[in-house]
Amino acid sequence: MGQRTAIVIGGGIGGLTAAVALDRRGWSVTVLERAAALEPVGAGIGLAPNAQRALDAIDAGDAVRAMAAWQAAGEIRLPGGRRLARTDNGAAVRRFGGPVVIAHRAALIGLLAARLPEGAIRTRAATELVDAGDPVQGGRPARVRIKGAEGGEPDEELTADLVVAADGIHSAVRRALFPGHPEPRYAGFTTWRFVAPAPAHPYTAHETWGPGSLWGTVPLHDGRVYAYAAAAVPPRGRAADGERAELLRRFGDWHHPVPSLLAAVDPAAILRNDVRSAAAPPPAFHRGRVALLGDAVHPMAPNLGQGGCQAIEDAVVLAHEAAPDADLGAALAAYTRQRMPRTMDVVRRSERIGRLTTWRSRPACALRAALMAASARLAPDLALRSLDGIADWRPPAATYASGARGTRTVELPEESE
Ligand SMILES: Cc1cc2nc3c(=O)[nH]c(=O)nc-3n(C[C@H](O)[C@H](O)[C@H](O)COP(=O)(O)OP(=O)(O)OC[C@H]3O[C@@H](n4cnc5c(N)ncnc54)[C@H](O)[C@@H]3O)c2cc1C
Repeated sequence: MGQRTAIVIGGGIGGLTAAVALDRRGWSVTVLERAAALEPVGAGIGLAPNAQRALDAIDAGDAVRAMAAWQAAGEIRLPGGRRLARTDNGAAVRRFGGPVVIAHRAALIGLLAARLPEGAIRTRAATELVDAGDPVQGGRPARVRIKGAEGGEPDEELTADLVVAADGIHSAVRRALFPGHPEPRYAGFTTWRFVAPAPAHPYTAHETWGPGSLWGTVPLHDGRVYAYAAAAVPPRGRAADGERAELLRRFGDWHHPVPSLLAAVDPAAILRNDVRSAAAPPPAFHRGRVALLGDAVHPMAPNLGQGGCQAIEDAVVLAHEAAPDADLGAALAAYTRQRMPRTMDVVRRSERIGRLTTWRSRPACALRAALMAASARLAPDLALRSLDGIADWRPPAATYASGARGTRTVELPEESE
């Protein structure tokens, strides 16, 4: 039997982790990414111990930790600066056996891409599913179509034994497999993210909660700062005078370092995203020879910092089940069985915490602040408890070919978003 082939649609964190895991498992993998280059997103990403253990299973954990910062000890504050609680960077180690680390997204993408063989990633390859195929032994393969470039290039059709749909929250593959399944619903708030130089004056990492809004500042490994903000606003908004102006209106009078960061940030570097979360579990995470993975199947609010972590877990479990000589139908059914209940639980838990962001009334915000301050005194690890059963996850026994693969240097374009 020849080497089995896998096509991964989408070169985000989930798709690339799946590609690396399947490659190590002996599959011949092609990643098809519609963008002109792999995402040079200027933002950080928190990777909890569960995701790091999954990365360890594909021998990438040490490299990721080496280019990431431990989530710094920090403070929970109010916009005027009053401190409600301190957070301790050793608490996650004690509770989950390892720290939460913060990586630059572009560096993580580059690191994963470098673990794939030369030529495994094709960019400018907007792909659609033509036929999900039949997973029985000898059944028809899955078929995808890469749309020809606008200059009139013809479409190209490819077949594969397995298709991994990691095409993100607006997944066209999800829609094709499960027409009529409800689209992700708006979580009630929008987020902004950017990376900026460290402020001139010392600052402490913080997450600050205001009425219907929050702001977080965390240091990155290279000394720069990753800042994120959220506000309860209607979806699909865009500020006519730019997102920096919008952030200044909403957060310009918050405590240090928020105004300094807003003064220093390149307005073009600010990302704005509405937060959407899965409205209902799909019938399955697979159909035919296609597996759905990451935001394509379980988009979630970012409040637990788990969307990417769960995509990484998906990838490693999928590759574990899909041994090259496995019965693919049984492997995909096992993938759905393991991943659907777990990820849907994380979706719901993230949604619950996300709702706290949208509290706006004075009494509700005062109550929230009092509870945060009291819990910091009485149960200092309370915030971490929201990750119980999530961050302590362990991957299935390592069954990957180990160590044999090298890495390449992958040049990413300058951050453009
Ligand atoms: C403000 C914010 C903060 C967050 N913080 C964290 C955090 O700290 N930790 C964490 O774990 N998660 C976090 N997340 C969630 C995390 O960003 C996502 O869950 C994760 O990026 C999903 O990865 P993915 O690979 O599934 O999808 P994506 O990253 O969306 O990748 C999908 C890829 O598919 C490509 N694509 C789409 N359609 C096609 C097509 N037809 N053909 C070819 N390619 C296609 C896209 O171009 C894209 O590259 C956060 C999210 C937000 C909004």
